[in-house]
Formats: sequence, structure tokens, C-alpha cells
Amino acid sequence: QQGSMREVGLEDIATQLAYANKVVFVPGYGLATAQAQHAVRELADVLEKRGVTVKYGIHPVAGRMPGHMNVLLAEANVPYSSLYELEQINPEFSTTDVSVVIGANDVVNPDARDNPSSPIAGMPILEVDRSKSVVVLKRGQGKGFSGLENPLFFKPVTGMLYGDAKDTLTRLVQAVQHA
Ligand code: NAP
Repeated sequence: QQGSMREVGLEDIATQLAYANKVVFVPGYGLATAQAQHAVRELADVLEKRGVTVKYGIHPVAGRMPGHMNVLLAEANVPYSSLYELEQINPEFSTTDVSVVIGANDVVNPDARDNPSSPIAGMPILEVDRSKSVVVLKRGQGKGFSGLENPLFFKPVTGMLYGDAKDTLTRLVQAVQHA
């Protein structure tokens, strides 16, 4: 694996988010295990109050069952109009200031696009690596469902923010409010 993982500080990310024009949240299985759907909605609320455009990129197989992310986000009253399917959101990443990957892994693995010998070659992915900045919220070095390494985590554009997703998002809400 080329490159190294870069850990970023919560305050730095809060500042990036607070002063962004457009932020895209990409939820995955870890959002479900952390039960972080309410916390992500709260973060969206404080950002939108500051004038930041917030969208959610929903991969068709994110989570562990069809429609998993839609169910969770609806439970937290995330407006349906903020949810974007893969084909809709992919063209938007190049104009996104910060993509926040929340407990997602396989659905943002660029090897599916870039490495023809990968077991997941050809699987459609959410192309977060085209954004100006990517922040990945996860607990540590855990793999996704596929068990594969994810080169996204080693790209210069990516910063890792470790911790349980609900806890990290809750702390980001407070930090953005003071930014
Ligand atoms: P994923 O690839 O399974 O990755 C989930 C990530 O969440 C892990 O890398 C894990 O890393 C992190 N995580 C776990 N608990 C967390 C917590 N409490 N807080 C923060 N992060 C946490 O998830 P995905 O990107 O959603 O991809 C779904 C996968 O499941 C695909 O491979 C898909 O094909 C497969 N699948 C989907 C369905 C479906 O119908 N949706 C059905 C069967 C299989 P850490 O351990 O480091 O935290």
C-alpha cells in the first residue's frame, strides 16, 4: 500500500466544515452500528444554519441490507430531498469542499475503479476521492465487509478522524457551534 494514513484533529475538521460551501456525508455500515443517524442530522442542522450546503451520498449497497441508510436517516428526519443516489452525487464531488465518510469503507474503495485485478473491480463506488478534502470517521484499522485494504485512506486528500462515529459527530456539532 502506497502512502501513509494521516490523522487529523477534530478542531481542524470542524473549522473546515464550518467554512465550507458544500459538504457531502457518505454513510455506511458503521453509521448503523454506532446508531449515529441522529448525530449526523444534528451536524447537518448546524452547518445548514451557517449557510453550508449539505447533501448525503447514498450507495445502493451501503450497510447490510437494501435501503439500510435510507431507513436510518428517515428515522432521524433527514429530509428525503437531501439524499442523493450514486449517479446523482458522483458528478458533484469535484465541487465538494469536504466529503465526510461515516463508517463506510467498501462503497468508497477506489480500487473498484482503478485496479482491474481487485476482487471488487467494476463495482460502482461513491467517488469521494474527487473532492477537495475527505475525512473518514471510523474507530481504527477495521476492514469493511469485503475484508479488502482501502487505498482511499492512504491518499493525500484524506484525513482520518478516529473514534466511534456517534461520539465523533456529537463532538463535531459542539466544535462547529464554537467555530
Ligand atoms: P463496510 O465496508 O462494511 O465498512 C464499515 C466500516 O465501518 C468498517 O471499516 C469499520 O471500521 C467502520 N465502523 C464500524 N463500527 C463503527 C463505529 N461504531 N463508528 C465508526 N465506524 C465504524 O461498510 P459499507 O461501506 O457500508 O459497505 C457495505 C458492505 O456490505 C459492502 O461490501 C456490501 O457489498 C456489503 N453488503 C451489503 C448489503 C446491503 O444490502 N446493503 C448486504 C450484504 C453485504 P472500524 O472497525 O475501523 O471502525
